Amino acid sequence: MQPAIAHLRKEKDAALRRRHPWVFSGAIAKWTGTPADGDVVAVQAASGESLGFGHFAAGSSIAVRMLTFGTGPQPDEAWWIDRIRAAVEARRRWGLMQAPGQTSCRLVHGEGDGLPGLIVDLYGDCVVVQNHTLGMARSLEITRSAVLEACAGTPIRIYDKSSKALHRSTRQTSTDGWLFGEHVEAAVLAEEQGRTYEVDVVAGQKTGFFLDQRDNRNFVRDHAAGRNVLNVFSYTGGFSVAAFQGGASQVTSLDSSAAAVELARANVIRNGFADESHAIVQADAMDYLKQGVAGFGCVVLDPPAFAKNHSARHAAVQAYKRINLAALRTMEPGALLFTFSCSQAVDEALFAHTLASAAMDSGREVRVLRRLHQPPDHPVSLAHPEGAYLKGLLLEVVR
Ligand code: SAH
Repeated sequence: MQPAIAHLRKEKDAALRRRHPWVFSGAIAKWTGTPADGDVVAVQAASGESLGFGHFAAGSSIAVRMLTFGTGPQPDEAWWIDRIRAAVEARRRWGLMQAPGQTSCRLVHGEGDGLPGLIVDLYGDCVVVQNHTLGMARSLEITRSAVLEACAGTPIRIYDKSSKALHRSTRQTSTDGWLFGEHVEAAVLAEEQGRTYEVDVVAGQKTGFFLDQRDNRNFVRDHAAGRNVLNVFSYTGGFSVAAFQGGASQVTSLDSSAAAVELARANVIRNGFADESHAIVQADAMDYLKQGVAGFGCVVLDPPAFAKNHSARHAAVQAYKRINLAALRTMEPGALLFTFSCSQAVDEALFAHTLASAAMDSGREVRVLRRLHQPPDHPVSLAHPEGAYLKGLLLEVVR
């Protein structure tokens, strides 16, 4: 069956020609055929020239997410296998797979790997697939075989964790579950730069672990020696373990979730660090920060995305300002603040501006030691700057 064709309005093809992978519904003048939600559709310029193929999402402001660009054929199974193989081979080249102490990474990062809507994470011997669009969900079977082929014997189990990521209207069509190797019952362990974390792929947040902070955990490790470290929004204790690895004298992990702080405790012990030097606090971050953090030589603030979309941006900026102001107010000269935002709608410049404003209100003099980003296995297409969602600053309080 021929795919439906989206005919773009005049002069609405420029972004696509620059390989920006999103076609907004307002750019489409008319359709030939009637696409169903999740179908692969063709996109044409007003002149009739073919611009590529993508997944159609009914009712979304991003009507089509492009898979191919130009006049080539519709993507088939071989194309799919090839693209996933290329993504996996890149991680292997970058030393992120099956290396000593390093067995977990993101294998496929949506647009950054030319597969919009698809996330694939590797935790040791376990792969977690997360489809964010119905188009991707409908290709689950081919994704599964492509991953098995590309990883050649590495993963012995694959879990589909798409139901929460899919748009509300399509959620019913996806049920989470094991796609391969369901007989394996052992805990999933992720090794990252010599640190080992237990990952709850079934009940955990996102795909179970935040792989995107790997390099930034190394920076915390590198600055932690002899410091009393406060890890706010600690979840699995990713930064806490890294701080101990770097010789922190004491670490406090804070999260509002009881399950999360227990996970942090277990992961610190699993890595061989003394439970006595690890304080666990189950509390609201703001309530805790307001009491003052003067005793800490290093504070990590890695909150959940405060802005889920553009309309929530203003409120999010205020929230980022509040928590950072509360921390900066009582930090001592020489203390370090690792502060992050994973909201796509808050870009790097706006985040830096927000921190400048928090520092100003705190009355402290603060300088930037390092700008922090997502690691290479979360690549960003130059044509799609929206992909750069994780930004952070390593700040030092001067006086
Ligand atoms: N830093 C973590 C990831 C943080 S995810 C890592 O390196 O893996 C965000 C965490 O913030 C979640 O575990 C969530 O339970 C916690 N959280 C959300 N709202 C909170 C609040 N108001 N106070 C404290 N923790 C909160």
